[in-house]
Amino acid sequence: MTNNPYSRTGSSGLELDLRAEMDDLLFGSYGEVAKGKVGLLRKMRIDSNGEHIRCPCRNKVTDEPSRDQYCRYCHGHGYFWDETQIVYYKNNDSFVKDGEGLFYLQYDLEITERDYIIELKLDSEGRPIEEIERESVYEIESADKFRADNGRIEFWQISAKYNREWSVHYGVKNRQYYISP
Ligand SMILES: [Zn+2]
Repeated sequence: MTNNPYSRTGSSGLELDLRAEMDDLLFGSYGEVAKGKVGLLRKMRIDSNGEHIRCPCRNKVTDEPSRDQYCRYCHGHGYFWDETQIVYYKNNDSFVKDGEGLFYLQYDLEITERDYIIELKLDSEGRPIEEIERESVYEIESADKFRADNGRIEFWQISAKYNREWSVHYGVKNRQYYISP
């Protein structure tokens, strides 16, 4: 976050409202270009017992999900999942290791270390192309809530690893899951 002399202050008036700053970063504001990108947050589906739901492509003997054959239901996870649309800011600074991604997201999402961030192919205006095309998969390694001094959650900082094995599949075929706005 930059030191902007025109930054708004929080309700206390004593500290910056970082939620508002994050909004401005992602969606733009007067004099500031939006830097957020549309992507997907992929969460494994959980049944009423809190267990992951296994995909039928798992081998009956080894219990491994199918990797040789592209499974259009689970994309090789071996579990069913759902995706929701998100807007994220990705830090591309040189200090970020190759294959690592540092993502910033809005405070009101539920994110865990078992989720994934999916980068989408976007058109020249930054909108996802009509038939969703997943470009790369990032496996979340740490999901940290950034809190203000008063304890309020201001935004998420996610560190995630580029998953080559899954990402290459996306040129082959894309199954469109239900994506809620
Ligand atoms: Zn499967």
